[in-house]
This record gives sequence, structure tokens and C-alpha cells, in this order.
Amino acid sequence: MERADTVVGLIEHGREGDLAIGAPGRPGLTHGGLRELARHTVTALNGMGLGREDRVALVLPNGPEMAVAFVTFACGTTTAPLNPSYRAEEFDFYLSDLKARALVLLEGMESPARAVAAARGIPVIELVPDANGPAGRFTLKPERPLSGTPARAGFAEAGDVALVLHTSGTTARPKIVPLSQANVTASAGHIGQTLALGREDVCLNIMPLFHIHGLIAAVLASLAAGGAVVCTPGFNALKFFGWFEEVRPSWYTAVPTMHQAILGRASRNTGVIQAGRLRFIRSSSASLPPQVMEELEQVFGVPVLESYGMTEASHQMASNPLPPRPRHAGSVGIAAGPEVAIMDEAGNLLPPGALGEVVIRGRNVTAGYENNPEANAKAFTRGWFRTGDQGVLDEAGYLRLTGRLKEIINRGGEKISPLEVDTVLMDHPAVQQVVTFAMPHPKLGEEVAAAVVLREGASAGERELQDFASARLADFKVPRKIVFLPEIPKGATGKLQRIGLAERLGLTP
Ligand code: ATP
Ligand code: MG
Repeated sequence: MERADTVVGLIEHGREGDLAIGAPGRPGLTHGGLRELARHTVTALNGMGLGREDRVALVLPNGPEMAVAFVTFACGTTTAPLNPSYRAEEFDFYLSDLKARALVLLEGMESPARAVAAARGIPVIELVPDANGPAGRFTLKPERPLSGTPARAGFAEAGDVALVLHTSGTTARPKIVPLSQANVTASAGHIGQTLALGREDVCLNIMPLFHIHGLIAAVLASLAAGGAVVCTPGFNALKFFGWFEEVRPSWYTAVPTMHQAILGRASRNTGVIQAGRLRFIRSSSASLPPQVMEELEQVFGVPVLESYGMTEASHQMASNPLPPRPRHAGSVGIAAGPEVAIMDEAGNLLPPGALGEVVIRGRNVTAGYENNPEANAKAFTRGWFRTGDQGVLDEAGYLRLTGRLKEIINRGGEKISPLEVDTVLMDHPAVQQVVTFAMPHPKLGEEVAAAVVLREGASAGERELQDFASARLADFKVPRKIVFLPEIPKGATGKLQRIGLAERLGLTP
């Protein structure tokens, strides 16, 4: 059977007895066990009338069961992981938007998704963890008997959709992104190459498994390399070093706000860090302040690789490379899978040094948003996909992002990169976290504002930070308003949200 470019082919690389997917404190599922479970699961799902074109919503807590369900269901159906903390209205929107054919919940799990599924006539399948078996192994128990013959049964092929996700909704209403078996396996392969992943590697997963970052970088890339991923119940700064000590991962991947929280606990855990076997740390999904990268490298004594990912690209587009190739703080690195270029508004590709929209093309890129011809018309130009991010490539091919096009602050015609202002303010010793954003202004349209979280025990006032910024930035870029917060609001995946922040903070003209 032709298994190239499919998830079922991807899980063939690990050795039979090696750990594939585990959990802290429990023996996990081996590669052999995972393959066996994938065959059983596809057969069981086919017997319930679910096949390659059927969308199965996975609403499961973060952990090994979710990782194993994603991988095994993707071998023969289309998976649609959803955030288990959604409320009823959100489940209603997502289940109908996705046209889910079934809903998978953990046995006995209370979730508003149950009532929503019942109202919509969507059958619920309970996932029953194998109490005596390895972490991640399960059987399936439909709430009511299900039978039928799917239009297309058996293992999926390269062109089938493996995964449907909505974008994070950081800038607009989330859009549906279908990703084919070929898209996701290509991306997993790219990440494995960038990180030189192999059978000895163990990833400690703290990323949510309803978002592209954790699903592809932590889970699929590890499995494709024949390595292991140990799945925690989700990020928790207080528990991180306990897991770290026990699992002794060779790497982990996270968003910058998580790295910052980890650094906040690091001084109490130097012994654990030294006894570890970490090879590198990966950061993606939002801009990593250079100061955080440097501190992480110092504290952990390993390279920190910032990479650039998005849902539509099945995650990775560019990445800083492993040594001996140089990594640059403040840059998201070099093309790492798809081709990466810079385009102007008219659709012309620009030379190195020119600022424009980042565009990509490659096997990992979605064929297009679902049911959204308007978004597709805007997103694709001459075979290139427009990321909506602004950036510049240098002569060596390193990409520096200046922000999302929608987040660039337009102060009476002067364009200001919020990332540039963030980077400057982060250099102030009292600043722990900062997010610069546009605040409405009656004359200029937009004015620069920033929200700041101060370091524990540190103090600094608005005026002091403005003076600090003034010494390093042109006057028009200096935030006119700086607010101090105990915490900056984040999206479900841990991203800081610039758009709508002024409104939420009550900063009106
Ligand atoms: P929506 O598209 O619904 O507004 P979203 O773009 O946040 O949400 P994702 O696909 O999760 O949804 O995120 C991709 C975006 O995250 C990229 O387009 C980019 O703006 C940002 N991003 C990812 N990695 C980095 C990075 N290393 N540095 C800066 N920004 C990054
Ligand atoms: Mg986006």
C-alpha cells in the first residue's frame, strides 16, 4: 500500500519497543503499540460508519490520550481537535462550522459539548483509557450503537484532509484551515530536519493539543523521527520543573509567555536543570523577546531556537538553525520547509533588505480556507500564500518580523512596528513583559500605547519608561500611554493580543 505522505506512514519509523507517547509518572505507549492501536482504531471507526472524509471532533483534556487519539484517528478520519474549555456557544459554533460527524469525549467527562452534540444529533463516542495498560492506550465506546459503511474506509491517502483547525483568532474571526495528510507530514519532516530529531529524543509537551504548534512540532515531528513525546496535562509553571526532573527531556517547545513563566521559577531549580539532558529549547507562535532568548540560553546552557509558524502552514515556516549555523536573536531564522519571500502590495517579490509582506509556498501549506472564497482571494497571489505578517529578509536569508500587518500602528501615516517598541522596553531592568498596541486617537487615527508587567519587587513609572524609550527610539514611536498590569490578557494558546487591547483596557480617545 502507498503510505508515503500519510500519518499512517509517519508512525512506521520508530522501533517497536521504544517509547512513542507517554505521560509523566507512567509507562507510555511504544511505537509498536501505537501502530497496533492505529489499526484497531481505524477498523473500529470504520465499523461506526466513520471514514476518511468524516470529521471527528476531539474534545479531550491535554495529555497522552489526546495525542494518541489525534494520531490514530488521523490515520483513517479527519481530526478536528477543539479546546475543551470552550463554552456551549463556542462548541455550537465550531461543531456546526466544521460539520462534525462525531464527537469524542473522555469517558465520564463533563462538557457542554455533550448537550450541544445531542441537540445537533451528533453522536458521541467515549474514549475509555486502558486502566491497566500504558498511558495513552484506549478503547472506544459509542454512547449509542453506531454502524454504517463509510464512503471511503481504510487508511487515509496523501490528499485526504488529516486535520481541520481554526486559526487562533488573534486578529479576526477564526477561519477554518483544512490540512491534508501530505501537508502535516511534510511539516513534521521539516521540523525534524531543523531540530535534527532522532530516536533518542524526548520532547516534554506543555503546549495545548488543540493548536497546530503542539500537534505538529511536539507530537508528529517526534513520532516521525522515531522519538518520543511525553504529554503533560498542560502548561503549569509550578509543575514544570517536577516534570523536567522526572522525564529528562532532550527538548521542549513553547510560546514566549510560557518561557517567561519558566524563567521565573528557574533560580529555584538550578540543580534540576544541571542534571537534565536538554539539547535545545524551541520557541514559536509569537515573537520571542531577544532578552528572553538570552536569559533562557544562560539559564539552561543550551541553544534556543526561535521559529516562525502558523496554522495555514501546518506550523513551521522558518527557524533559527542548530549550531554551528548561527542563530540571531530578534530574527525568526531562515526558511525551514517552505520557500519564504517578501512581497509588496501589488504582488511583486522584493529583494533582501526590503520591507513587505511575508509570503510562502510549499508542501506544508494549506490549499485554502474552507468556505471562504473572499479570504482565499486575498490570501493567494501568484501561487504564494500571504501570511499577513510584515518582515524583511537579510542577505543571508534570515527573516526579521516587524509585526502583523493588522497590528502595525498607523500614527497619522507614520507606520510603527509594535515589536520594535516591545524590544526596546524589554531592555528596561524593571520590565518583565510588554505589549505595544494601537490606541485610537481623534486626530492621528492611532497613537502608540503599551501595557507593561513589572518584575517582582521592581518599580518604574510611566514617565521613566517613556524617557527610557525616548533615548532609543524616534519620538513618534514612544508610547504616549503606558499602563501597568499584573498580567496581560492572553488568547487560549498563550498569545498576547494586541488587537482590541485598547478597547479592553478602556483606552478611548
Ligand atoms: P488569526 O489568524 O485567527 O488572527 P493567529 O494568526 O494568531 O490567529 P496562528 O496560526 O496560531 O493564528 O498564528 C500564526 C501567527 O503567529 C503568525 O502569522 C505570526 O503573526 C505569529 N507568529 C508565529 N511565530 C512567530 C514568531 N516567532 N515571531 C512573531 N510572530 C510569530
Ligand atoms: Mg493568522
